[in-house]
Parts: sequence; C-alpha cells; structure tokens
Amino acid sequence: MTAMKKLSPARVRFAPSPTGRTHLGSGRTALYNYLLARQTGGQFILRIEDTDQKRYVPGAEEELMDSLRWLGLEWDEGPDIGGPYGPYRQTERREIYQQYARQLVESGHAYYCFCAAAADAAPRARRPHKHRDICPDREIPLAEADARRAAGEPHVVRFKMPSEGTITVTDALRGDITVENANLDDTILVKSDGLPVYHLAVVIDDHLMKITHVFRTSEWLPTFPLHGHIYNALGWEQPVWVHPSIFLKPSGKGKMSKREAAELTQDGLSIFITDLRDFGYLPEAVINWIALMGWGYDDHSDFFTLEELIEKFSIEKLNPSPAAINFSKLDHFNGLHIRRLDVADLAGRLRPFFERAGYVVDDEEKLRQVAAALQVRLVTLAEAPEKAGFFFRDDISPEPESLIGKNMTAAESLTMARRIYDLLAGLPDFSEERASQPLRDLAAELGLKAGHVFGFLRNALTAQKVSPPIFETMTIIGRPTVMKRLEHAIAVLEKLVAEEL
Ligand code: GLU
Repeated sequence: MTAMKKLSPARVRFAPSPTGRTHLGSGRTALYNYLLARQTGGQFILRIEDTDQKRYVPGAEEELMDSLRWLGLEWDEGPDIGGPYGPYRQTERREIYQQYARQLVESGHAYYCFCAAAADAAPRARRPHKHRDICPDREIPLAEADARRAAGEPHVVRFKMPSEGTITVTDALRGDITVENANLDDTILVKSDGLPVYHLAVVIDDHLMKITHVFRTSEWLPTFPLHGHIYNALGWEQPVWVHPSIFLKPSGKGKMSKREAAELTQDGLSIFITDLRDFGYLPEAVINWIALMGWGYDDHSDFFTLEELIEKFSIEKLNPSPAAINFSKLDHFNGLHIRRLDVADLAGRLRPFFERAGYVVDDEEKLRQVAAALQVRLVTLAEAPEKAGFFFRDDISPEPESLIGKNMTAAESLTMARRIYDLLAGLPDFSEERASQPLRDLAAELGLKAGHVFGFLRNALTAQKVSPPIFETMTIIGRPTVMKRLEHAIAVLEKLVAEEL
C-alpha cells in the first residue's frame, strides 16, 4: 500500500551470542529483523555468534530457539535448518575468518602482534596507553612475522588503526557519527586461540551472508566506527545500520542488572521470554508490547497483531530514545489479546496451566465452556487454575463459616440452603433467564438480600470468593454436580447447627 512495500527484499539477521537467557531486548531485535524481512519478502536469518567460548552457556542456544519459536518468529536460514550461506554458527566458520584476517594483514590494514597475546583479556580501562603507540610489532615485516608464527609463537591479529583523520559511520536513527581515529585503537581481530572477535566476524558474516540491514542495540555504537574501518579496509559496501536503544528497568534508571532480573522473577514478572510464557503471557501480547518499546505507528494505535506489524513497521518510525520496561502495559496487552482469541484456541492454551496445577482435564467441551467464561476475566493464563480449578475437581470443601450468610445464624442459613436446593431441583435449567428471578423472589420471601442467596451458592459450588458469574458457573458444572455440592453444603450446615445446640 505504501512506499514501504516497494523496498527490495531485505536480508536481515538476528545474531545472538549464546551467553545467557533470551530476554526482551533480544526478542525485540529479532522482531524488528523479522518484520522487515516479512514485509519486504526477504529472508530472516539466525546466526549464532559463539566465538567467545569463555562466555558460552550450555543450553542457551536451545532456549533461544525455543523463545523465538514461541514468539512466532520463524527463521529462513539458521544453524538447525541450514541455508545457502552457511554455516550459521560462527565457530564453524573459523577458516573463513582466518582467510580475511590474512587478507587484512597482507593489505596493511592489520598486523600480527606477538607482544600482547596475553593482553587479550586485559580490561581496556586499565591500559594507560593506546596499544598503537607502544606496540613494537606494528611494523614487523610480514616474512618475519610469518616465521615467528610458524615457529609457534603465540600471537593475535590486530587492526592497524590510523592515528590521524576521521571516520564517519551512519546510523539510520541517529544520522552520521564521526570520530577522530586518534581516539580509536588497534583492536584485536583474531585472538590467540585463532577465533575472531565479534568485530571481525560480524563484518565478514554480514557481508558474505548478503545482509542488507543490521538491527542491533545501541550498546554497539562505541565500536561502530571500528566496524566502518573494517568494511573500508576490505573494500565492502556497508549494510543499513539501525541501533535501537536498550531497555531501561521499570524505574527508568539504568539497565536492569542480573540480580534485579532474578528478583523480578520471584514476583511473577520477568525479562526472560520463556518465563513470560510460563507466567501465562501470550506470545501475541509480548510481541505487541516489545514492538512498541522503540517503535510507534501513530499516537493513538497500540493494539497490533504480528500480521499488522509486518504491514505497518518502518525504520523511520523507530525511536532512538531508551524505553523503560512497563509490565502493566504487558498485562494490558495480554488482556486484549486473550479477549480476541477464538474460544477453542484459548481453551487449548489454558489446558497446560490447569494440568500443571494438577487438574485432570478430560472433558474438552467443559474446558471450552470454562475458557468462554474466563475469557473476559483473565489477565494471564496462569490465573486460570486459581479462578476456575473447581470446575475440574470432583469434590470441593468450602470453609464451613463461608456458608453462613452475613448477619445470619447457621440455622437460618440452613433453611435458606434447603430452600435453594428445592428451588433449583425444580428448575429445568440454570440459565440466568430461568434461575435469576426465582432465586431473587426466594431471597425476598425469606427477608434476605439477593446477595445472601448468590453468596451462598458461590461458596457452596466453587469454594471460592470470586468465580465466573454464578449462572454460567452452574451451567458448566452441570446439574448432578450442582446438586451434589449443595447436598454437601447442607450437610456441613446441619453439622454446624447441631454443634450450636
Ligand atoms: N552477538 C551480538 C550480541 O549478542 C550481536 C550483535 C549484532 O547483532 O551484531 O550482542
């Protein structure tokens, strides 16, 4: 419909490092990539950036794929499914990087550095000088460096950063960024273990995989100029760079720490995608929520499905300022997306939550009816067992006191209970149309409020203070169980009355 449709097919990638759990920030980066790929009829590629073996976390890759699939962001090429530009796991591309590193050395843009192989791990801040100014290896003739390498001397490959001039790189959200080369240094490109660092691998892979747009968070802005240098040194054309901001913690003050993230999880909230799934959020809601943390369509629309986002997304409407994580918005979106699910779909999504809470859900029709009754009431799917577990229980045990009406004695409550029982036994069904008026008339006849009658029914039938509307509840529970639960409640009241005498 718009100019966006005319964009040529984008090849984009989500390139996580398997160093921890998949959080909202990764989810959003993956989403923006996915949206652009689907909107333009291009490809969404999953690439695993695992060259930092020290930070590798076993299982992270599986969790990552699980998270993406749950969000509905299927990739077109990736380590599990292959593709024409593989391998898609960086540790399997070692020779490719070495070949280009060699090319950079031969063209004079990089050099073998022997002096500081051990400095691989030295934190930057503690180094007083620029490496460029103190390294004796910068000007070693290539033949000599090769001989030392062949003799097994440990070494790294460093970028040979010019000490003068400037470099300009362009971010689609922030425009041109120009820095003085004097402020940059001879960054390590290949470590002494022969594996490249991110800066080299990302450039090579994005080029070889024909990536057209790179979405990655603003944390990469400081090293962005280096990437520009490497592209120039290799003589390659750069992709469109997009650096959305990182998320701030709910207070808006800074990035969430690992400890804060763990604390949050104890409160039933989380920044991790698979936790949100387990806490009963819908992928549709998470997608809607994260899409809007850094992008907006206009100032009044906030409900979007994935299909709508594919149609409406545009880089121009991304917002470079950081967004604070707002969990009440997630609740809001979850409610909205739950309401628009087809009832059978909702039922299917509720089932595991009931089962995990220990309920046996063997009656498909009943589950569907429960889903319909809960649909307007749920914030998360995880609330369902607490709100509606009584539908799937054979027996319930209401607190005896809960069966006694406000300002009533046990004997009065028993009388009321017996009359309610008789009344319901004589009704053809428990629909609101049929049952409401007779029950109200009964309350009036007994000099009680309608609330007394309905309160008793709720406690006797659900053993809960809140439940879906009582007529709907009775209909789903079904006549035999309604009568059985009322008989049980009457027996409880009889016992109370006997004890009072
Ligand atoms: N592996 C990097 C990370 O996880 C990816 C950055 C990028 O997308 O280029 O942060």
